[in-house]
Amino acid sequence: MVLDSLSTSLKNSLKKITSALFIDEKTVNELVQNIQRALLAADVNVQLVFNLTNKIKERFRDEKPTKDQPKREFLIHIVYDELTNLLGKEKEEIKILQKKPFKIMLVGLFGSGKTSLAGKLANYYKKRNYKVATIGLDVHRPAAPLQLKILSDQVGVHCFIDEKEKDPIKIYKRFEQQYKNYDILIIDTAGRDALLHELIDEIESLNKIIRPDERLLVIPAELGQTAQRQAEQFHKSCSITGLIVTKMDGTAKAGGALSAAAVSGAKIKFIGVGERPNDLETFNPPNFVSRLLGMGDLETLLEKAREAISEEKSKDIEKRLLKGEFNLVDLYEQMQAMSKMGSLSKLMELVPGMSQLKLPKEVLDVQEGKLKHWRYSMNSMTRKELEMPELIDGSRIRRISSGSGVPASEVRDLLKQYRMAKKMMSSIKGKDPEKLMRKFKGRIPGM
Ligand code: GDP
Ligand code: MG
Repeated sequence: MVLDSLSTSLKNSLKKITSALFIDEKTVNELVQNIQRALLAADVNVQLVFNLTNKIKERFRDEKPTKDQPKREFLIHIVYDELTNLLGKEKEEIKILQKKPFKIMLVGLFGSGKTSLAGKLANYYKKRNYKVATIGLDVHRPAAPLQLKILSDQVGVHCFIDEKEKDPIKIYKRFEQQYKNYDILIIDTAGRDALLHELIDEIESLNKIIRPDERLLVIPAELGQTAQRQAEQFHKSCSITGLIVTKMDGTAKAGGALSAAAVSGAKIKFIGVGERPNDLETFNPPNFVSRLLGMGDLETLLEKAREAISEEKSKDIEKRLLKGEFNLVDLYEQMQAMSKMGSLSKLMELVPGMSQLKLPKEVLDVQEGKLKHWRYSMNSMTRKELEMPELIDGSRIRRISSGSGVPASEVRDLLKQYRMAKKMMSSIKGKDPEKLMRKFKGRIPGM
């Protein structure tokens, strides 16, 4: 996941707490020192780190745990809370208004990831059933319009460009009559090497003509702590409505950019976690911290599942998952959806506790071929067997195998996968992060 080494050190520090005999001042001081070291290594600003760790000590000293809450859980809870505050406290979503079109303008310096992000956002909103178009107003880089066009084609949205025109306002006006046919218009703009007057002027004049509903500043994570100053400057000169931190996958120091951006006064709306259109996540501080601490992030998992499966079906599966009801057909649909979404192992990080379980690689690696065999063998099962796979014994396996032409060992594999999934699903019932927090101790092997 992003911020892997930060995540590992935080988890290790907390592990020590869960296994300590007593929680006294000494344990708290040790914990605080470990957290400091971890955050500093992830490039979080020294002052922010000290504020956070002082706060943890203060709260542990002054606040009282609830009646039946063990001290160590109380302490972990405070850590979770303060890390969440460090990263911006609450999620603040972009609200797409009912107007045609809702305009989202992306600004930022050269190479920050604006054009890629235009593709990612188009993809994100298209999957949520909005009619989306992009427009390329970067007239400074010769290849920029074409890059946007290719990305837009890839995700299947319309793209407005004019490669000959050198005035972004003229380009915008040229297609103006057509925008009302779209729910959302995503506007890609030009960058500069620094926030110069030239760039401020350009953004200001685009602002005046386009009047975007959202003006999002794109910041690459490798910028580290400097992200704060950049966000503040842009905020002041071009009234930014939100931030997006990209390239989270590319650096161990992304903690610096995230925490710095969080204090700039503008909220982080999304993070970019890779180069492909799907590599975009909504940024939600509590969930993000849950993931850092290894508790997974059920909400993001369900969100991804929703993208791949139809709304209705995912609601249904979600309900059944949470109730612990789950059969082979569900497993199959899930596997199919997940293989569509990409790497299953990446998804497993999102399931509470799963990032800790070392699953065999072949379990995570669901290949198309395997899925096909599973489908054949499922076609040879009776409805009752599909709904209650527990019924399938050795002689039924032989029958299914000879009926479908799939080796018995693969049928057994399928059943094994089913049992594992069922066990995992029943362990993630109830997605309230507070509850997950309380179960935290029992979840992680060895803790
Ligand atoms: P722009 O100049 O602001 O439009 O930036 P681009 O969108 O052209 O991106 C610059 C480079 O960063 C390209 O090579 C992108 O593929 C890459 N990039 C953008 N976002 C991400 C991300 O989230 N992760 C990684 N690893 N690369 C990214
Ligand atoms: Mg660009």
